[in-house]
Amino acid sequence: MSEPQTFRIVLVVWLALAAAAFLLLLFVPAPYGRYTRKSFGPTVDRRLGWILMELPSPVIFALCFALGPRHGILPLVWLLLWLGHYGHRAVVFPFQMRGGAQQMNLAAALLGLFFNFANAYLNGRYLFALGPERGATWLLEPRFVAGVTLFAAGFIINRRADLALQRLRGPGESGYKIPRGGLFEIVSCPNYLGEIIEWCGWALCTWSLPGLGFALWTAANLVPRAISHHRWYRTTFTEYPRRRRALVPFLL
Ligand code: NDP
Repeated sequence: MSEPQTFRIVLVVWLALAAAAFLLLLFVPAPYGRYTRKSFGPTVDRRLGWILMELPSPVIFALCFALGPRHGILPLVWLLLWLGHYGHRAVVFPFQMRGGAQQMNLAAALLGLFFNFANAYLNGRYLFALGPERGATWLLEPRFVAGVTLFAAGFIINRRADLALQRLRGPGESGYKIPRGGLFEIVSCPNYLGEIIEWCGWALCTWSLPGLGFALWTAANLVPRAISHHRWYRTTFTEYPRRRRALVPFLL
């Protein structure tokens, strides 16, 4: 079977798996962070776990770029967006974590690795080789401009919220506190909201099925997790603000 044929099959399976993951995660939160459990099998140092599951993504995406054959300005912009996000997530974010569980379940790290591997391959091969070739004029196309704007807005929302959460713990502190200020006043998980906006922006600016797949997978991972976090906050803190929603202001 040729690579384009295999690619199409993998992509369809990948989209179907997103729906299955969404349903599963509604009932069983991925076992890392506050949901790490001995009963979910072996654990691994959480920093190592994060690096292990995130680092393959920029490496594989950059490898797809290197294999080409497309190396113009547009592929370069896509590469920079991807590396901007994943360079941070793989090598900066793990070292900003403070306190809390020092371990994560190995199962979560392996599933994350699989998720990142598949997304990086599908997006990278599509954009740099197998999908329709788009010239530099795509940089002026409204879908591209709107998508990159969304991507940047989502990135800023995500980063600001993750940093605010990580700063809730002082040196040597563990445990959880009620996050306050900014978007936290209206939703429990603005970091997840930002991440979903970011990858919707990616889907728009690449105008591609693999990009859409990434956005759907991100929502499949993070909508159930936001609901779990929100429920957890409400049962853990009696004084948790009642007006706050889980993920989408005033709605969900
Ligand atoms: P969380 O919001 O669960 O945690 C982020 C960090 O903040 C962790 O270090 C956590 O500690 C700490 N933290 C969270 N809440 C509190 C609190 N109330 N008090 C004190 N500390 C707190 O995010 P995730 O770990 O699930 O995700 C991290 C990043 O990865 C996010 O930006 C997310 O969007 C992204 N991500 C993306 C996915 C995708 O599909 N694209 C999938 C999963 C994550 P602790 O670890 O101890 O809980």
